[in-house]
Amino acid sequence: MARRFSEPELVIATHNPGKLVEIAELLEPYGTNVLSAGELGLPEPVEDGLTFIANAEIKARAATEGSGKPALSDDSGLAVPALGGDPGIYSARWAGPDKDFDMAMRRVHEELGDKDRRAYFVAALALCWPDGHMEVFEGRVDGTLVWPPRGDKGFGYDPMFQPDGYDITFGEFAPSAKHDISHRADAFAKLVAACFQP
Ligand code: IMP
Repeated sequence: MARRFSEPELVIATHNPGKLVEIAELLEPYGTNVLSAGELGLPEPVEDGLTFIANAEIKARAATEGSGKPALSDDSGLAVPALGGDPGIYSARWAGPDKDFDMAMRRVHEELGDKDRRAYFVAALALCWPDGHMEVFEGRVDGTLVWPPRGDKGFGYDPMFQPDGYDITFGEFAPSAKHDISHRADAFAKLVAACFQP
């Protein structure tokens, strides 16, 4: 049985304002006041875990220890089984310091060649309490990688990812439609059901 979350404040372990807004909106119905690691001036820890869950745990624990308050973190990426799970936890790093996702998508495409183009996005969430207790959740959305990339609505690898059951890529999805079926939505649904819903 997961531990219920009933504290008045929650630190979101991100320095990304977009993620903060998204998470704050999601938790609004539960009366939780959210603060960001960025606004509290907490340093970003080294993400040297070997799984999405491990990296989410590192970020949540660092934010809890730095603030003395409960913290929620997320870690996500694109996994391609035919590439041994790459880019996986290295999804952001494949885009290099310039965050060049055209280059990262081309690398995925070229390394794949004529191998199986199945892929999935993963989102891991870790919720950590000041006593060290942690709850973790993982969400996933399966699809196929297309080439050339299509659409300019999303970010990262969205333009080359076509989710199962659709003939458009995440780059062509309206943002609200993507939020309904994404890996992040799946992970949040599990978190809310386990820790937030009455
Ligand atoms: P992080 O969760 O901020 O560490 O993001 C890891 C990387 O995974 C991002 O920079 C993106 O490249 C990729 N990624 C995660 N979620 C998505 C998504 O929904 N669409 C496209 N790319 C994503």
